[in-house]
Amino acid sequence: MSGVLLDDTAHSAWMASETNECQGLTLELPLNIFRLAEIMYSGRLIMLSEQGENYLKGIYELQSQGGKVSTSLLSERLGVSSASVTEMLQRLADDEMVDYTPYKGVALTSEGQRQALRIIRRHRLWELFLVEVLRFTWDEIHDEAERLEHIMSERLEERIDAVLGHPRFDPHGHGIPSSDGLISSESHPLLADAVAGSTVAVVRVSDENPEILQYLSKLGIGIGTPIDIAERISFDGSLRVRVGSNEHFVSEKLAKHVSVVTTAPGAMKGASDGG
Ligand SMILES: [Zn+2]
Repeated sequence: MSGVLLDDTAHSAWMASETNECQGLTLELPLNIFRLAEIMYSGRLIMLSEQGENYLKGIYELQSQGGKVSTSLLSERLGVSSASVTEMLQRLADDEMVDYTPYKGVALTSEGQRQALRIIRRHRLWELFLVEVLRFTWDEIHDEAERLEHIMSERLEERIDAVLGHPRFDPHGHGIPSSDGLISSESHPLLADAVAGSTVAVVRVSDENPEILQYLSKLGIGIGTPIDIAERISFDGSLRVRVGSNEHFVSEKLAKHVSVVTTAPGAMKGASDGG
């Protein structure tokens, strides 16, 4: 958030926090003790707390799954009471980050969406940085990035982006929003829907459960890995697959966490669903 001007009160608060350097009135690294992101919107200074940022991100993710975002859905996702959700949504509505009508659900405003994408960009850049530079494995990075996403300055973000070569995808195959908030909205079929006889390549895996990622690694499955679908077992939806020279059974539950592209279409389409 470089280039943001603070009013007097905010400025003295800033000066009081010892972790920050103040360069005239231009702020560089918003790593202050309150962990607030200062943003200028509609000529006002908005202080977004870490919690507020998580709400915007949560609403964005629920919105992209389609449908209306209700208070109960959000409270379930964020693991907080509906009373706290209502209170925070009211605050975010006052800051024009969301449109919120009690009992009618919530939607991000265009500024709310811009902020959500900013946080998602930071999360995914951190994840890639942790893997590429600090040699973390893909199951170790999500929780770290959940914390780091809130303390990344604009300057650090630009530097990490450049060091990583302006990447478009994170280690789990999720699109990294560009600095001006553009994100690839490409959707891919799930491994769970792959046709017997086809060959697919993994393009994305869900990143929230490290056990899933560890298990996929154990099967030798990562982003880009080709998987031959040998058989679909219709009674439980599981798959018999070949990865390299090894054969595995993949449960439907696991296969629903993996997105793929078909690289060689199935020869047995339809007829193979017997198992
Ligand atoms: Zn993540």
